[in-house]
Order: sequence, then C-alpha cells, then structure tokens
Amino acid sequence: MVKITKNPGPPASLAAEALKANGDYAGEDVVLQLRQDFHDKCYLCELKDLSDPEVEHLRPHYNRKRKELAFDWNNLFYSCRHCNSIKKNPKYDDKVIDCCLTDPELVLEHTFENGHVKILSRSKCESEVLTAELIQNCFELTNTGIRVVACQYRVDQLSKTMGTFYRTLYRYKAFPDQVRYRRSLEAMLDRSSPFAAFKREYVRSHLSDYTELKELVIDSDPLPEQ
Ligand SMILES: [Zn+2]
Repeated sequence: MVKITKNPGPPASLAAEALKANGDYAGEDVVLQLRQDFHDKCYLCELKDLSDPEVEHLRPHYNRKRKELAFDWNNLFYSCRHCNSIKKNPKYDDKVIDCCLTDPELVLEHTFENGHVKILSRSKCESEVLTAELIQNCFELTNTGIRVVACQYRVDQLSKTMGTFYRTLYRYKAFPDQVRYRRSLEAMLDRSSPFAAFKREYVRSHLSDYTELKELVIDSDPLPEQ
C-alpha cells in the first residue's frame, strides 16, 4: 500500500446519483477517475492493470445504512475483487488506514522474503495493525478454493516483479555508468508501479548499498515554516 493523491474534485455523477433512491456510485466517470488516481492498481495488494476492478468503500456504508458514505468521493477506493471480498470481514470496518491521508510506508513494513509476504505494523495502533493483517491476508488467506488461486496469482506476480527488480539493482551496481539502469529503477520505485511498497521498502532497508537511490524512496523533509 502506498500513498495516493486523489483528484480533489468529485466526479460529476456522484452528486446526481446520490439524490436517487437507487443511485449508482460506480458511474463511468467515477471508475475512470479512480483508475487514474490509483495508477490502475488495487490499493491493497498493488496488483496493476486490473481487469475486474471494484469501487471499494474504505468505510462501509451498507451494514450501517450510512448512505452518505456510499457517495462520498473521499470514501471511494480502487480495489480488486479478491481484496475487496477479504476486507468485507466486519473486523476491518472503519479500521483500515486511509492511504490518501496517511503515508502507509511510514506506518507499515512490506517485505517479501523466501517467497513469503510479511506485512508488519511499525506501531501497536489498532488500525495500523489491522491494516497490516488485511494486506497480509490479501496474499495469504487461503480459506476458499478461489482465494487459494487468487493469492497464488498475487504472490507469483510479486515474485516476478521482485526478481526483475533485484536483477536491475544488480546491473545498476555492476554498470554504474549506464544511465538506463538508473532510469529503470526510477520507474520501478515510483509509487505508480506494481508492488511499489515492497520495492521501496527493500531499498530503504539496504540504504547503505544504495545511497544514491535514497531520494527515490524517502520524501525529503518539508521546509520549516518561516
Ligand atoms: Zn487487491
């Protein structure tokens, strides 16, 4: 999970649909804007180029009949069907951190080692602990046949992405004069890339080896106010 900057203005259809008895919060303008703002990635598993995206409500609206949340642009997120179904567990209700407000990389640690995903919360804050657990489950909750396949697909894609990333890091160190490897790494470490949180975490945890990449994975401190 990475920080997302959403277009501040709600798509036009939301206000109109909210006035209807059975309005649709997933109009074309909403879905297309979400796809753009979330870089065509599920905000939970970071799988890219979703073929079956869903408009996900960060804070649920149905079970508590909170209609205003259904059409609130700030409450709409872009997810894959698999992760959305796992998040429906009531224990996550109102407990998942808002990646448009909080930088998830500051509070969660994303690692992939020996073929296993491990998401840890850097604090004991309930919402951060549950968000870490939720993302972990998006890769490893195999309590149904469909989820076995969906999780395996995500782990396989993550594994491929990390393999390519490690090879590029190796070449970057081996051929420091070749600008193309630096450019490739810049793209791979951008928040818009698939599984960006894992790659960015890897560089941050090996900064002594990749000092020159620091600016790509750690936001510079804001200037002090005058
Ligand atoms: Zn997902």
